[in-house]
Amino acid sequence: MNSGVTHLFTPGPTNIPEAVRCAMNVPAQDHRAPDFPELTLPLFADLKRLFGNETGRVFVYPSSGTGAWEAAISNTLDRGDRVLMSRFGQFSQLWADMAQRLGLDVVCVDREWGEGVPLQDYERHLADDKTIRAVFATHNETATGVTSDVAGVRRVMDATGSDALLFVDGVSSIASIDFQQEEWGVDLAVTGSQKGLMLPPGLSMLGVSAKALDGARSSTMERYYFGFDAMLETNDAGYFPYTPPIPLLHGLRASLDLLFDEGLPEVFARHHRLAEGVRRGVDALGLSLCAVAPEWYSDTVTAVTVPEGVDGAQVCRIAYQRYRTSFGGGLAKVAGKVFRIGHIGHLNEVMCLAALASAEMSLADAGAKVEPGAGVSAAQTYYRDTAPALATTTREPGR
Ligand SMILES: *Cc1c(COP(=O)(O)O)cnc(C)c1O
Repeated sequence: MNSGVTHLFTPGPTNIPEAVRCAMNVPAQDHRAPDFPELTLPLFADLKRLFGNETGRVFVYPSSGTGAWEAAISNTLDRGDRVLMSRFGQFSQLWADMAQRLGLDVVCVDREWGEGVPLQDYERHLADDKTIRAVFATHNETATGVTSDVAGVRRVMDATGSDALLFVDGVSSIASIDFQQEEWGVDLAVTGSQKGLMLPPGLSMLGVSAKALDGARSSTMERYYFGFDAMLETNDAGYFPYTPPIPLLHGLRASLDLLFDEGLPEVFARHHRLAEGVRRGVDALGLSLCAVAPEWYSDTVTAVTVPEGVDGAQVCRIAYQRYRTSFGGGLAKVAGKVFRIGHIGHLNEVMCLAALASAEMSLADAGAKVEPGAGVSAAQTYYRDTAPALATTTREPGR
């Protein structure tokens, strides 16, 4: 059965708006041409606006988000530096693995998968250990559907007098959940193209504070491809040190236009409302979330705990094969125990209802005792109750 569309509810890659797809269909272009900066310079400026970064810069790399993780570390730290991290899901775990492999001395706080960045533990470590040079936070843990309080991390750093750099993984939050790099004192902020920016994978962006740019000059870790220096030399004039993925840059232009046209506060509010509908649907099915308390609930991804005796991987297999719906599976420690509904990027109410409908059928087929329709109904009620007022038309139809 191949008619209709395949429904994509993975928390990355996300659905690509038609305007973005069309914008990427460009003839081959010379990235050293004199008019190339007309494309790139406004992109650099608009990315700073997106990150809430006024006095630093945003670098764009041809890589997935993981590349910007590495760029952040390798440009600003030295081997053996002590850093404070926390692990509570696959993505926070992988970043900690990377930090270890790159030779950092990682102090890692492990939390239950379903919780987020532990502010009290961070405060204790920072108060006891004045050698910590960097603090890491995964803003939105995509594996568990948990959002953490980044401004709170900066608060505990300030409270303990720490002058460490603050590194934040914003891959599944930036452009979908409120993010304020400068206001929150974030020195290195990472994102990627295939999540809130609604693009294909292939670009990562790294927001860097003025302080981190300054420190980068004396950092001694090996780096080449991701080095800030060559980027700094070329970006100001609108160029790159090597060949950038030009069609993706055109797509990025279209994506930023969509985001700013809607308005960032409106984009964040839309994600919150759509997510809340999904959560109400899940609750009406009698299922619980992997996120252990409402303070952690993510507005871009909902990780649903499957009932005892039901295999989350089987739910995803059924959804894909029978109902042409892609959900995210459970990763690592929660493999088989959860499945994830991504509600990030280019999305509306009826798409979320489709996700719930498909999840209900797949869960029931996989043996869960859920009543198909109950989740959809709860979400419908919420979306109707919170629907915006109708636009007043100036013309009567037919006149
Ligand atoms: C997607 C994601 C990444 C990066 O993954 P890539 O596959 O390298 O783009 C990192 N952190 C989080 C929280 C993510 O959701």
